[in-house]
Amino acid sequence: MIRIGQAGIPLSCKGRTNKDGLAYTKQVLDLNAMEIQFVRGLYVMKDEEAQFIKDYSKENDVELHVHAPYYINLAGDEEVNLSFDKILFSARLAGKMGAKTVVVHPGYYGELSERKTLKRIIKNTKKLQSLFKKEKLKTKIGLETMGKQKVFGSIDEIVEVCNNVKGVIPAIDMGHIHARGNGCLKERKDFEEVFQKLKPLRLKHYLIHLTGVLYENGNEYYHLPIKKGDMPLAPLIDIILDNNYNVTFISESPLLEHDAVYIRLQVEKAIMKRTGKEEADYRDLSEIV
Ligand SMILES: [Zn+2]
Repeated sequence: MIRIGQAGIPLSCKGRTNKDGLAYTKQVLDLNAMEIQFVRGLYVMKDEEAQFIKDYSKENDVELHVHAPYYINLAGDEEVNLSFDKILFSARLAGKMGAKTVVVHPGYYGELSERKTLKRIIKNTKKLQSLFKKEKLKTKIGLETMGKQKVFGSIDEIVEVCNNVKGVIPAIDMGHIHARGNGCLKERKDFEEVFQKLKPLRLKHYLIHLTGVLYENGNEYYHLPIKKGDMPLAPLIDIILDNNYNVTFISESPLLEHDAVYIRLQVEKAIMKRTGKEEADYRDLSEIV
């Protein structure tokens, strides 16, 4: 199954609440996923709104994810409790909305070596996971792959944390992997390597962030529209269709929903190529599996 949506309220949606954005994602864009953004500080959401979002997304089959505030440091010392608070706050709301994942930026190396940072992040992610259990939060923690050298979160590091903390999954930000590898995702074999690295986790579902990205020396500068970046989508989509992977694509491009629709068109093009037909629906893969 392939799901497609965007990170946040669509730019072309007049109403600026998450409720509006969700209904627009379904009714206007005809997409079936959305990642709700709690990224700029802590967001207040009334129970009523969370309930509406939960009911609406269930009735209309729109899968939800949540992005926790950007500034999180699970490698931090004293500040780690503040990071736990932000993540728990996001996760409680995610739970009320029935969201599958709360996406988290893992943290920074700071003064620590890479190895020590890894150990500390594993330790703190375990602690966080136990806090989730204590509160009976069902939303999964999704650790994001990060696009800068000084930030913890190469694909190998994220896989290692997930391998050590049961139930924690990777949020696979392809643009970040591409930037960190200084443009490493060009051909099919490059994307295959990513899936190969993820293999030990035996994921039943892949949450994938997509955007174009401007980078230099293995560091992300900023996001670009997908067409302006140099990471191709076609080989990634081919691998997914060949393996019948269960994925959710979230567009994080500055064009947000426009690029979500672009992803959809690329998926449908790939399906048509396989079926030989002139029509395709990204939700229906029955003819190619
Ligand atoms: Zn992120």
